[in-house]
Amino acid sequence: MLVSAKEMLNKAKAGKYAVGQFNINNLEWTKAILLTAQELNSPVILGVSEGAGKYMCGYKTVVGMVNGMLEELNITVPVALHLDHGSYEGAKKCIEAGFSSVMFDGSHYPIEENIAKTKELVAICNDLGLSLEAEVGAIGGEEDGVVGNGEVADPEECKMISDLGVTMLAAGIGNIHGKYPENWAGLSFDTLAKIQELTGTMPLVLHGGTGIPAEMIQKAISLGVSKINVNTECQLAFAAATREYVEAGKDLQGKGFDPRKLLAPGFEAIKATVKEKMELFGSVNKA
Ligand SMILES: [Zn+2]
Repeated sequence: MLVSAKEMLNKAKAGKYAVGQFNINNLEWTKAILLTAQELNSPVILGVSEGAGKYMCGYKTVVGMVNGMLEELNITVPVALHLDHGSYEGAKKCIEAGFSSVMFDGSHYPIEENIAKTKELVAICNDLGLSLEAEVGAIGGEEDGVVGNGEVADPEECKMISDLGVTMLAAGIGNIHGKYPENWAGLSFDTLAKIQELTGTMPLVLHGGTGIPAEMIQKAISLGVSKINVNTECQLAFAAATREYVEAGKDLQGKGFDPRKLLAPGFEAIKATVKEKMELFGSVNKA
């Protein structure tokens, strides 16, 4: 059964480790992540962007697929199904469809509007026992015309959103979605320390986990990050393994064209990536 992310993240915050959110795109992705979490006895959050939700034929299809797998694969570790970067309307749709967790990303709104909309969703999620992630907008993304700094949040605004009763809070600390540029300035640990100081026990979320060096990830966890989002890295691993299979001509040998064979190397590559991340984040055996 799907669970809210609240308990697993509060445990992670107290235990100084992080739970990975791995975004899903299809059946192979979902199966690879769930089986790895079970094998490693780790809690896990399955992330679904609005675009991926559409691609998978809607949120109800996603809920049906994930719930079916939990039962048929005997998954017993805590699993949350979470909307990633949701709009206000998207969050409501996912709640209706049976997601156990949603993110409302109001970071592009002025802070007053972000607060008002987040507040409404806090009430809905609390009533239903669902977890809610909020995001605080960026300041000084390209300071002095220098690119590569990523987005940095205002710690005071983080405190305002945190006080609304959200479950977890995403705040920019110099992280970037997708691949990091050569001249990336790195994570702003001063900002993270200040946010953690003001928000106390609130689990903090690090987006854009692909390509952040391991020692920066570990330092971020030590400063209060309890949820780390991984998306691009699984996509790159899947694509590389699939390319290798096709370039080796294996799809032309025997029944190598069978999708169960063709997609197997990519599936294994996702499993290996998820395992590596769970080990790095410290969530192994924390189910
Ligand atoms: Zn994100």
